[in-house]
Amino acid sequence: MNFDLTDEQKKVRDMARNFTTKVIAPRAKEMDRTGEYPYDIMAQMASLGMMGIPFPKEYGGGGGDWVSMHLCIEEISRGDVSLGALLDVTTSVAGNEIYSFGTEEQKQKWLIPLAQGKEIGAFGLTEPDAGSDTAALKTTAALEGEEWVINGSKQFITNTGLDNASIIIITAKTRVEQSGRTTISTLIVPKGTPGFTLGERYEKMAFHASATHEVFFDDCRIPKGYLLGDIYEGLAQHLSVLQTGRISVAAISTGLAQACLDEALTYTTKKYQFRQSLLESQTIPFKLADIAMMIELSRTIYLKAAWLKDQGRDYTLEAHFAKLFATETAKKIASDVLNMYGLFGCLEKYPISRYFKVAKLFEIVEGTSEMQRLVIARKLLG
Ligand SMILES: Cc1cc2nc3c(=O)[nH]c(=O)nc-3n(C[C@H](O)[C@H](O)[C@H](O)COP(=O)(O)OP(=O)(O)OC[C@H]3O[C@@H](n4cnc5c(N)ncnc54)[C@H](O)[C@@H]3O)c2cc1C
Repeated sequence: MNFDLTDEQKKVRDMARNFTTKVIAPRAKEMDRTGEYPYDIMAQMASLGMMGIPFPKEYGGGGGDWVSMHLCIEEISRGDVSLGALLDVTTSVAGNEIYSFGTEEQKQKWLIPLAQGKEIGAFGLTEPDAGSDTAALKTTAALEGEEWVINGSKQFITNTGLDNASIIIITAKTRVEQSGRTTISTLIVPKGTPGFTLGERYEKMAFHASATHEVFFDDCRIPKGYLLGDIYEGLAQHLSVLQTGRISVAAISTGLAQACLDEALTYTTKKYQFRQSLLESQTIPFKLADIAMMIELSRTIYLKAAWLKDQGRDYTLEAHFAKLFATETAKKIASDVLNMYGLFGCLEKYPISRYFKVAKLFEIVEGTSEMQRLVIARKLLG
């Protein structure tokens, strides 16, 4: 067993870490305050090759692996989780789905610009009546001649409404078998297609620099060839790339938890320098030790899941463990560090209040904690 990162993986991690320290961290507070999407930062991330790390070079990628991709996501999220989520949705989910199930033509048309970071992608699964129960969707796509006609809506879709957002990959009911079984398929809908519109941007409690909208399809027509993968396997395909997304959410939460620890180390040493009793009583140092341990465990489990994926092995259970553990850990760490600040923890001027609010959201994104426990328990009980 070898826990060492390769030279290439270390290079990616260090490149992302330096970029975060120099470019992202100084802007994060303002981005979150204004909700402004940082196109200039994204362009720099693209030129550093971050969006394409795990894809082959012929598709505009870096020819790297998913371990490197997730080290990059962790480091970027240490500066700002909305940019970590940008990488998650564009690369781990949308790009991954086209790479895994798309035709050569689809890869040329849509994967290359995503991998190069020239465009970003969105992933539409959640509907007003289909959240955790993903199969309860109502959106339909009927084949009329050479076109799919889509009707329905998706809610809470990340990476929408942006100038460089190019496509949304959605699930839709494409036919009902005589047996009464519904067939769910995956379709690629490019931005600007008539009948594809966006609702108001959601005003979330945190995570403001990540754009999230409801999307509507009203007699939205796309060519027949925009079906992605097997017509009968759309839901399974969509859910399979969400497993990779769960590793990414774990990496985002690990980066966020690390940011909390970094803050705590700077702040507590300053705050308590004249109140040595608190440092000597070990209340704070023991808490810091627990936090460092929990972060290392979050990192270890998401890296194991990414490594299994790179080996072409089943990583389902590890992806659920990683998502559940890292998100709940980040929330607890943010709360513990906020406590260390005492009354100052509630002030917007300190990043810990931002970290505390956003940590909660990742328990919901890409499957709630309850759903992770449900799937893990089902696997255990056979
Ligand atoms: C910031 C943000 C960004 C998002 N981005 C996207 C995106 O890009 N694309 C996308 O498709 N979706 C996105 N989502 C949606 C997200 O994936 C869903 O919110 C999530 O899957 C939960 O669905 P729901 O909110 O409808 O909750 P529901 O399914 O309505 O669940 C409500 C509560 O009931 C619990 N529950 C439900 N079923 C069970 C059960 N069987 N057993 C036990 N408990 C249960 C849940 O755990 C939860 O606590 C985003 C959400 C957020 C908050």
